Amino acid sequence: MADKRDYYEVLGVSKGASGDEIKKAYRQLARKYHPDVNKEADAETKFKEVKEAYDVLSDDGQRARYDQFGHVDPNQGMGGAGGFSGNGDFGGFGDIFDMFFGGGGGRRDPNAPQRGNDLQYSMTIEFKEAVFGKETEITIPRTESCDTCAGSGAKPGTKPETCTVCHGSGQQEVVQNTPFGRMVNRRACSHCGGSGKVIKEKCGTCHGAGRVKKQRKINVRIPAGVDDGAQIRLSGEGEGGLRGGPAGDLYIVIRVKAHEFFERENDDIYCEVPLTFVQAALGDEIEIPTLTEKVKLKIPAGTQTGTYFRLKGKGVPKLRGYGQGDQHVKVTVVTPTKLSDEQKDLLRQFGGIGGESPAENQEHHESIFEKMKKAFRGE
Ligand SMILES: [Zn+2]
Ligand SMILES: [Zn+2]
Repeated sequence: MADKRDYYEVLGVSKGASGDEIKKAYRQLARKYHPDVNKEADAETKFKEVKEAYDVLSDDGQRARYDQFGHVDPNQGMGGAGGFSGNGDFGGFGDIFDMFFGGGGGRRDPNAPQRGNDLQYSMTIEFKEAVFGKETEITIPRTESCDTCAGSGAKPGTKPETCTVCHGSGQQEVVQNTPFGRMVNRRACSHCGGSGKVIKEKCGTCHGAGRVKKQRKINVRIPAGVDDGAQIRLSGEGEGGLRGGPAGDLYIVIRVKAHEFFERENDDIYCEVPLTFVQAALGDEIEIPTLTEKVKLKIPAGTQTGTYFRLKGKGVPKLRGYGQGDQHVKVTVVTPTKLSDEQKDLLRQFGGIGGESPAENQEHHESIFEKMKKAFRGE
């Protein structure tokens, strides 16, 4: 997909273009390249390109995703356990009719190509897989154009024939005489089901539907640094189109499992490590697990519980651009609970020696002690 053009470039608008500007640009280009209007060889390709750019940029959510992730290569992939659901209702070329004739009033050509539905697949991945990326294969059930009949639904060597009842329009007019006058109702042709065509000899593979259900394996590449809720769009990997229409897209929604030790906020990693009372008071050098390795962290003498230390560059790789977030280590001083008699004696001696007292020498604690005294006084 390296040769895929930037959507803004396709529509000839700036990155900050408003919804109206995007719509206007799309209408002009769609008119110019619509295959019904433009008979140049590459018109259809250009139309699809314009349509795709518009589909993404006219949808706030998709536009934001595109701004963040850009095009995602459909030939690359990712995988894992996942749920699967089809969604969306996308007209393909048919949209142009609404555009020219105004929605509702226009009649769609029943034989116009129709774009396939988009599909959504939700994939749960491990914490570290989100950090480092992953390549995997997923299997999705989807409807694809039938290879045997090339999507026509007719037995190879035969063609669907124009319906003799509606003469290909797909609609029937029903005239009723009522006390108020003649009423003309339009409804889908009952003979051809509204398609305008009748298949005399059906394709043996798809039984006339033109599409078949398939379990399709797709390679998915999850980029390093994705976060929970990210969506990856695989263009053209959705359901097959009808009557030569383009396939829909496949959206992969990423769910990231929690980690026992690490927590993540954007590109930064947070963790909490215990310190003994002695380590905190005298200082120490301790080992901290990071996403990739163990690193040494110097704890200065007199470290308070709740202090954060930063390990620069030990966070998550940035999805876009270069560099990595940081790892933030919060230390928690653990008060000993099981002391031997000897240890208790030593601590009693320590307490009795006097010297530095938290209430006198540390402003932070002073305020806590002050507050506590006030509470005792009932303030
Ligand atoms: Zn008919
Ligand atoms: Zn078929």
